[in-house]
Amino acid sequence: MTPDAPSIVIVGGGLVGLSAAFHARRAEPRARVTVLERARVGDAASGASAAGVRVMGRDPAERALALESLSRWPELDRELEGKTGYRRSGGLRVALDEAGWAEARATVAEQRAAGVPLELADADGARRLAPGISLECRGGVHCVIDGQAVALATVHAFAAAARRVGVRIEEGVVATAVVLEAARVAAVTCGDGSSVACDVAIVAGGAWTAPLLAKVGVRLPLRGRGLQMLLTDAAPASLTPVVGCFGRPLSLKQLADGAYLIGGGWPARIPNEAVNRWEVLPESVSGSLEVARAVYPPLAARAVTRSWAGIEAFTPDDLPVLGPVPGVGGLLVAAGFSGHGFALVPALGDVLARLALGLDPRADLWRGLDVARYAS
Ligand SMILES: Cc1cc2nc3c(=O)[nH]c(=O)nc-3n(C[C@H](O)[C@H](O)[C@H](O)COP(=O)(O)OP(=O)(O)OC[C@H]3O[C@@H](n4cnc5c(N)ncnc54)[C@H](O)[C@@H]3O)c2cc1C
Repeated sequence: MTPDAPSIVIVGGGLVGLSAAFHARRAEPRARVTVLERARVGDAASGASAAGVRVMGRDPAERALALESLSRWPELDRELEGKTGYRRSGGLRVALDEAGWAEARATVAEQRAAGVPLELADADGARRLAPGISLECRGGVHCVIDGQAVALATVHAFAAAARRVGVRIEEGVVATAVVLEAARVAAVTCGDGSSVACDVAIVAGGAWTAPLLAKVGVRLPLRGRGLQMLLTDAAPASLTPVVGCFGRPLSLKQLADGAYLIGGGWPARIPNEAVNRWEVLPESVSGSLEVARAVYPPLAARAVTRSWAGIEAFTPDDLPVLGPVPGVGGLLVAAGFSGHGFALVPALGDVLARLALGLDPRADLWRGLDVARYAS
């Protein structure tokens, strides 16, 4: 293994791992890049995602990554030679009460100053952007560069592009441990007893990242949570932006086929944290529908056709942990996206690939998200 063409093993075939693999191999075609996925690509959070592509309302520590990613989404289908279903449909966060309207007005200036192109919309303006919105709507905040993609289509586009540039994706292979020699990564061992030698290991195992890192003495406070999604039957096209609401858990979009997709962080039950299994909770279904119908009354005529959940790792500050693990050469981590990692995937993959290849890691994009703030 030559220092200028490392061998890289990525644990996790979700969007973060796939994007890192694609970017690494595209930047350095001599690098050996292997993705180990214990199930099928996209089986966990990435395939279940609401696939909102948003910068509006992000924590300041995530904004640079989000803005960089949003600048790439419009060209992503061309880059990947695939179809992510991405549309720059805009995002609209509405206020249904005085407290929400005050919050809407308060957030605009600070975000605009940081480069997020937000506009305050009064009630008429919000209704023009989203006809059918509640008559109680006081107004909202509109972000013209927010949008949406399709979760599984995006997973398959990244996986196909990664394979096309020469990444080996091994599905049905569980990574059991990262092997260190002299405080450096030497290999990743697999469930069947085999191992893959490598110079760099990127652990992007979503909600199952922490146990693998704990084996090399790195303890990260990641907790898996189940997040619920609802899909309705189709209706004629009427809603363009992704709709959220101040003070109420909601993300609502109308898909290309007319069905509405409803999320917003409603919890699902996880019976066993070690595996990717969840149970939809009746109270979350009714709670989510109640909020969605209050914000967008045309939903009262729609029936729910499917419900599911995805398990996502959360951190105490709801911000991801990203980058090198201090004290362990060649070990990188990318996890804890806390329900909002989908939009960040283009820039995340680029940053991880740069770190793995020893290129300029664009530290300006992810300052404040480093592992050191948690690693013990
Ligand atoms: C319901 C829901 C809605 C969401 N909505 C949005 C949204 O609208 N906008 C947004 O920006 N974000 C959203 N997110 C968040 C976003 O989808 C996630 O942050 C992102 O998909 C995380 O990708 P990942 O690759 O880190 O994790 P995952 O997709 O969970 O992938 C991790 C993979 O690692 C594999 N793995 C784990 N351990 C091992 C091991 N030891 N060996 C081999 N493989 C292993 C798992 O099987 C899994 O496939 C949502 C998430 C959910 C669940």
